[in-house]
Amino acid sequence: MKLKNSALIAIIIILIITISIIGVVTFIPKETKPEENITEPSKYSEKATTILKEKKLFTKVNNLDYSKTLEVMLEENTFNEKYLDAYTKIDYEEINDFPTTINNLLNNNYTYQEINYILKNYLSNINILLNMKHINILEFKDISNFDINKLERYLNYSEENDYDLKTVVTYVNIGLDLEGYSEYKTYTLEEAKDITILVNKYHKLPDNYEPDDLVSLSYNQNYKLRKEAAEAFEELTSAGVLENVIFYPFSPYRSFATQNILYNRYKQVDGEKVADTYSARPGFSEHQLGLAVDIRSSNLTDNLTKEHYEWMLNNSYKYGFIIRYPKGKQNITQYIEEPWHIRYLGIDLATKVHDSGLTYDEYYDIYMEKR
Ligand SMILES: [Zn+2]
Repeated sequence: MKLKNSALIAIIIILIITISIIGVVTFIPKETKPEENITEPSKYSEKATTILKEKKLFTKVNNLDYSKTLEVMLEENTFNEKYLDAYTKIDYEEINDFPTTINNLLNNNYTYQEINYILKNYLSNINILLNMKHINILEFKDISNFDINKLERYLNYSEENDYDLKTVVTYVNIGLDLEGYSEYKTYTLEEAKDITILVNKYHKLPDNYEPDDLVSLSYNQNYKLRKEAAEAFEELTSAGVLENVIFYPFSPYRSFATQNILYNRYKQVDGEKVADTYSARPGFSEHQLGLAVDIRSSNLTDNLTKEHYEWMLNNSYKYGFIIRYPKGKQNITQYIEEPWHIRYLGIDLATKVHDSGLTYDEYYDIYMEKR
């Protein structure tokens, strides 16, 4: 009996040992093949390959398409493993601080899609983006008049106003996030001659600009416009007469000096703030261009009748004129509605502006401003 028991115990012990050995052997980590010994030809430089093998990433990476960006990151010791996937998808650009730039953008939560877009479009302005929090840059992708130098202004204006981004960009480009007259461009004498030039509270004419081709209107020898505009105005007037829409010019070309007197008189009467809503400061008036004229329906009033205004809205562009300060656009033009003020742009441009439904301030920024 004793012997039998001993044998049984022995068997059990042997069994336990056997099971233990099997268990231990099973759970011993298998000796992995060191990547240093892989002989597969590498797509990468020697230095990059060595690092990849050290990090045991070689097989994984070498199976993917070659990436110059990844290679540079490895060679410049700027490789951060958590961005491996992004590196392989970022297009390489020949710039000095490429590796740091890429890491900074990635640290700033930019995706590889965003980074590729930035590298392609804003390489020379990249610091603007590096110096601010992550922004959804792709949201601006289809906005043709987007100007990255104004990015901070767009973001501020967008926070304060409920407009869509496209509107935000145009309004900020016009300058509407700034007080009128606080910042403006002054044209050269040469630029001022351009028939299509935009004049508003952000675009000023030189004080001494005076058109050299002013001619009198048939209605009154003292009333002048630039030749092309004067001829178009006569045609517009005749077209009106044919449809029994009879109107008269009462304020065409005004010199800087005249505008100065006029504005200061208004300012004295109404104060600067109110005067600014209906009268331009000297140098900022379209009348100084010799391309704008105020019209009225009779000599008894400074206005156009509703019918005449309607006719003008629907017909003036055919003769090259637009209504420059239309109803409901005061927030853009920065002037109260002025049905009587028409501006000559030439038939082609006036038609386009009319068809766009935009104010000239907007149209100019979107389609004509050189960027
Ligand atoms: Zn006017």
